[in-house]
Amino acid sequence: MTTLVGQMGTTDSESHRVNLLGLTKAQMIEWIEGQGLPRYRADQLYQWIYHRRVRRFDEMTNLSKALRLEVAARAEGRGGKLAQRSASQVDDTVKYLFELDDGERVESVLMRDQGRITLCVSSQVGCAQDCQFCATAQLGMKRNMTTGEIVSQVLQVEDEIGARAITNIVFMGMGEPLANYKNTLAALEILSAADGIALAARRITISTSGLVPAIARFNREKLKVGLALSLNATTDDVRDRLIPSNQRYKIAGVLDVCREWAHLTRRRLTVEYVLLRDVNDSRNDARRLSELLRAVPSKVNLIPFNEIPGGQFRRPDDRTVRAFQDELTRAHLVTTVRNTKGDDIAAACGQLRADYENALIQIDAPAMASANPS
Ligand code: SAH
Repeated sequence: MTTLVGQMGTTDSESHRVNLLGLTKAQMIEWIEGQGLPRYRADQLYQWIYHRRVRRFDEMTNLSKALRLEVAARAEGRGGKLAQRSASQVDDTVKYLFELDDGERVESVLMRDQGRITLCVSSQVGCAQDCQFCATAQLGMKRNMTTGEIVSQVLQVEDEIGARAITNIVFMGMGEPLANYKNTLAALEILSAADGIALAARRITISTSGLVPAIARFNREKLKVGLALSLNATTDDVRDRLIPSNQRYKIAGVLDVCREWAHLTRRRLTVEYVLLRDVNDSRNDARRLSELLRAVPSKVNLIPFNEIPGGQFRRPDDRTVRAFQDELTRAHLVTTVRNTKGDDIAAACGQLRADYENALIQIDAPAMASANPS
């Protein structure tokens, strides 16, 4: 039992209970069998926690009273608590701030768009990638989030807006999901399992700055989960400066492994391209981009830079953004421009850094039903 606690990266060393929130089916079976219980009890626990989302062991009515007490004495479910919610006044975007057990804070952003309800989740506290234009990079890397903390963002937001309300999940919040590989993969399993959170894998997208060995490993998992690459430049010169890992992998190496992903999954890669004024927004960039993507089944998502107070980068004007898009469209690339959502609450792409003081409206979350079901 102690080793299982260790494996889950539980940060509260005072708790002698195993944290069930974040356990995959296999891990739950391992724990249940370690308790001398039959494996179907693991199926039941898994369903109660992730699928039926009860918050207390005594609601698990297909477990006998004695068994409920036994489990409650040895286990709990912790994934951080919702500390604050900020609603945008200009659109439907809502930013949620979570406080984790060790006091660290992460954010998720809920966006509504054409019938879709998308939750943008965080995977790390801070980030080590050091992308020069990104607010999270300024925090530095604090730690990986546990699997329980990752899935808990979904469970807690749905506690507020309704079970199964979320239609899509994107790993585009704080952190680099593929740098927290094990916990991200476990979270994907729980999110997509039919008896888990039960969101179709193809409605989940992992976004990466382009960590080639991790993408190669991800390819071998053969998941139906979507992949988005933050390309953001068309020459190695510029990309080396913006995204330090490019110095190792180079654009060609990154696109190679993404092409492999597209072929293996028969899906189109999402190419994110943050437009930075006078850095990567020229017509020549647009032409080079269409050239680079010629042999990669992909669609392009242009993201006009969300300016960060005190930062060195600027957003191009609308005309430049349109011209860039037109150039790609001429080259027959499917291209969308991401409109800036939740800008007024600093919930826009790449602005997450858990300094919620800037929020316009702050609604303190009501005392939440504790995630601790004991
Ligand atoms: N680490 C992952 C996921 C987090 S970043 C990744 O790099 O993809 C999610 C997206 O936000 C990336 O495409 C990133 O390039 C973009 N982004 C970061 N800062 C931004 C900013 N200030 N304005 C617009 N987009 C930004």
